[in-house]
Amino acid sequence: MFRMETIQYNLPQSHIPQSWYNILPDLPKPLAPPLHPGTLKPIGPDDLAPLFPMGLILQEVSSEREIEIPGEVRQIYAQWRPSPLMRARRLEKALDTPARIYYKYEGVSPAGSHKLNTAVPQAYYNKREGVQNLSTETGAGQWGSALSMACAFLGLNCKVFMVRVSYDQKPYRRALIEAFGASVVASPSTETESGRAILAEHPHSNGSLGIAISEAVEVAAKDPQTKYALGSVLNHVLLHQTVIGQEAIEQIAMAGDEPDVIIGCTGGGSNFAGLVMPFLGKKLKGKCGARIVAVEPAACPSLTKGKFTYDFGDTGHLTPLVKMYTLGSTFMPPGIHAGGLRYHGMAPLVSHVIDLGLAEATTVQQLDAFAAGIQFARAEGIVPAPEANHAIAEAIRQALEAKAEGKPRTILFNLSGHGHFDMQSYIDYQAGKLENYEYPAEEIAMALAGLPAVG
Ligand SMILES: *Cc1c(COP(=O)(O)O)cnc(C)c1O
Repeated sequence: MFRMETIQYNLPQSHIPQSWYNILPDLPKPLAPPLHPGTLKPIGPDDLAPLFPMGLILQEVSSEREIEIPGEVRQIYAQWRPSPLMRARRLEKALDTPARIYYKYEGVSPAGSHKLNTAVPQAYYNKREGVQNLSTETGAGQWGSALSMACAFLGLNCKVFMVRVSYDQKPYRRALIEAFGASVVASPSTETESGRAILAEHPHSNGSLGIAISEAVEVAAKDPQTKYALGSVLNHVLLHQTVIGQEAIEQIAMAGDEPDVIIGCTGGGSNFAGLVMPFLGKKLKGKCGARIVAVEPAACPSLTKGKFTYDFGDTGHLTPLVKMYTLGSTFMPPGIHAGGLRYHGMAPLVSHVIDLGLAEATTVQQLDAFAAGIQFARAEGIVPAPEANHAIAEAIRQALEAKAEGKPRTILFNLSGHGHFDMQSYIDYQAGKLENYEYPAEEIAMALAGLPAVG
């Protein structure tokens, strides 16, 4: 007799979370406040008003544990949420490990990643306050795709500054963003002062998230009809992503299991935070014993090699100063294919949790990440986004460690998106054209030397 094995844990639509989970009131220490870049004094909600609608600013500074998800947002979420929790049985067999490997699959969203979880509420709160245009940056193109789709749903115009290296590497992402109705500009561009300043110095600049953020912020700051939207890093973005972890808690309980280790890749920190913060909330109450591991690329190692200090969120120094692990705002990460992980800093909330010792961080080299992604694809049938490959590489490492110990281990990781628009990077990998990047020590030292002086 053939016995069916359960590999997928699905929740009905009625189990889409009713609220987002804000971990701040449960943490042993508050976050350091963001500072005004001119006065170095803590900023208030009004300082952010030129860039964001008040609904999002209030979430950014909120100390409420639960923030209700508007009905209209939940209704849009229902198109792909709750996302499935999958057990990677064939991968377990391929690795011949006693570990049980689960992944939360965020690639089922129509934009292909977790980014839509925050794009929808961001567009919603802007629309509610009468905003007509949003400007934003995108690295790999995932955030641009998500925000342009959310803007199409809610009737907003959207302009996307796309990091030059991704603009060239990922023409189909650009086409998707345009199909959803947004306009796309390669960054650095000649449309902004920040872009022109970079081009004057580096006419062939690959671009970076830090530069694209400066351009998008500049456009919003100069036009009262335009607000800015950020796809990661900020508290309200991480907050919106907590639907992932809340669902996963319910789903892994359905599987009759409990995680020993929870893993997410980290660019700005949002998919990691979305999965782990609800578990960490339980851990702080003594109800979860899992280790929590953030995985970053060796070429852009903010958590493992950066400094925990105040820095700018962008290269042009238009944003407030936030306390985070940073490589320095002028650091230009190598052109790795995991474009979504090429950011000089890390979410203040994720940085804080690492600093408090509540989570740990590790790095993965580009070639190891792609090898893990290929192994995963052959076992599970999903080609992961290059960013997510970093989480997979760590999950596999953990599973092999469990095998070496001869002990079971329950591993949960976030499969933050699929790689269907990233196939050029797989072509390059299979053709042997990708390389590992040494830790760029000299450039990082230079960028760190330029950190703003904050007393
Ligand atoms: C953007 C992106 C990331 C990195 O951003 P985080 O804010 O750290 O989650 C990771 N995976 C995918 C698929 C992405 O699109």
